[in-house]
Amino acid sequence: MIKKIFTSALFQTTSTLLISDKTILLVDPNWLPQEIKTIQAITNQYLAGRQLYILFTHSDYDHIIGANAFPEAIVIASKTFTENPDKKKILEQIHFFDESNYIVRDYPISYPLVEVVVDKDGQQLTIGDMTLVFYLAPGHNADGIFTIVEEAKTWIAGDYLSDIEFPYIYHSSADYLDTLQKVDTILDLHTIDQLIPGHGNPTSSTQEIQKRKLENHRYILELKSAARTVNEFDLAGLWKRYHFRRGMEAFHQKNVELIAREVGTKAV
Ligand SMILES: [Zn+2]
Repeated sequence: MIKKIFTSALFQTTSTLLISDKTILLVDPNWLPQEIKTIQAITNQYLAGRQLYILFTHSDYDHIIGANAFPEAIVIASKTFTENPDKKKILEQIHFFDESNYIVRDYPISYPLVEVVVDKDGQQLTIGDMTLVFYLAPGHNADGIFTIVEEAKTWIAGDYLSDIEFPYIYHSSADYLDTLQKVDTILDLHTIDQLIPGHGNPTSSTQEIQKRKLENHRYILELKSAARTVNEFDLAGLWKRYHFRRGMEAFHQKNVELIAREVGTKAV
C-alpha cells in the first residue's frame, strides 16, 4: 500500500492518498488550486487499472472544497453528511473564501453527491482490495466519521485528535465526548500504525493518540466547569499548549458560547 499525506499551507489541513493494487482512496482533497493540482497529478499517475474513491471525513467547507476536481471518483461519506441542512451555507463559505482571496478554480463548486453512505459504528466496506471500517464521529460537527483502513493500519480521524488544535465544537460537547470515548474501542479492535488528523501532524504512537484524547477531554471538561461554576478557564495554559493564538481565539470564544448555551447560562 502506498500512502501519501499532503498538508496544506492553510490550517495544516491534511489530504490523504492511499493506493493499493486495485483501489485509490483519496480523503478530503484541499485547499488551494496549486495544492489540488499536485494531488490530481499524483492521483492520475496511479489511476490506470484502479477505481478512485473520495472519502469526506465531514462536511466542513475546507474538507469538501476540492470535491469536483475528481469527477470520476465514487464518493463515500456519512448519512448525516448527505442530509446536511446547511449545504447552501457551506457552498457560500467556499465562494466567500475564493472571492475574498481572488482564487480561480478550474472545476465547479457544488456539494458532493454521496454514493456510499456510512450510518453506523463498526460498518465495514470493501472497496476492491481495501477494507474500511467506520465509526460515527459527531461533536465537532454533526456528520463526522472515523475511518480505519485495515490493510494500511491507518486511522483517518477528521477534525479530532489534532496536535495543533483544541476541540472546535460546532455541534455538541456531549457528542464530542462520546466520540472521544470511541478512541479506546478503536485501539482495542484495530491495529493502528498511524493516526491522521484533519489538521496537524499524523502520529504513529498510541501513547500520543491517548495524550491527544486526554487533552481534548480535559479542554471540554474545563470549559464546562468554567461555564457552570466560578472556576476560571486557564487561558494562559491553553495558549501555552496551542500556538496559533491570534487565529484560534475566536474559535475558543465560540466554544465558550456554545457551552454556555448548552448549560443554559450566559456567555462570559
Ligand atoms: Zn477542518
